[in-house]
Amino acid sequence: MLIESYDLAIEVSRHSAEEFEYEAVAHLPVDIGPVLPYLNATMKSGFYLSDGPAFSWRQDDHKIGFWPDRIAVDHLETREQARKIIDELVKLVNQVWERREEIEPDSRTHENLQPLELYRLLPRTNCKACGENTCFNFALKLAAGQTTLEQCGPLYAQKEYEEERTQLEWHVATKRPLL
Ligand code: SF4
Repeated sequence: MLIESYDLAIEVSRHSAEEFEYEAVAHLPVDIGPVLPYLNATMKSGFYLSDGPAFSWRQDDHKIGFWPDRIAVDHLETREQARKIIDELVKLVNQVWERREEIEPDSRTHENLQPLELYRLLPRTNCKACGENTCFNFALKLAAGQTTLEQCGPLYAQKEYEEERTQLEWHVATKRPLL
């Protein structure tokens, strides 16, 4: 097991007299820097930066950060929730590290899919063949990874969209869904 123990720090971040949230940081006695490219390969919606290095990820309302010496999570409602989520993240790091022989590490920084960029390349006829009312709704779902390009029939059926289709395929293949 890579992380066998950690020191947990839980801080209160106050927005007003009544409103506050907790932020938790697990300070680690081991360097988890070598795990981060494996996390990047496994968690497709995360964001890896080789300078640092650091890996960030969003889960529900929480921003989660992994650095070589710590794991941090924000937007927590209770101390119990902080302990539970940090525990799960530590388990996740350990599991990914144990499976590292099966995973191709990924040290690239992937951009996110941008709905407007996708929308500009779609036919923009609002024909509804994909089941969406508008091409913009389709672009929103595509950027969120909730549909596939192939659902847009005209893009594949009509030769006039060939260049845009190639560009869209490149965006989908190289970028990650927005959370
Ligand atoms: S099928 Fe394609 S062109 Fe028609 S509404 Fe959907 S995204 Fe737009």
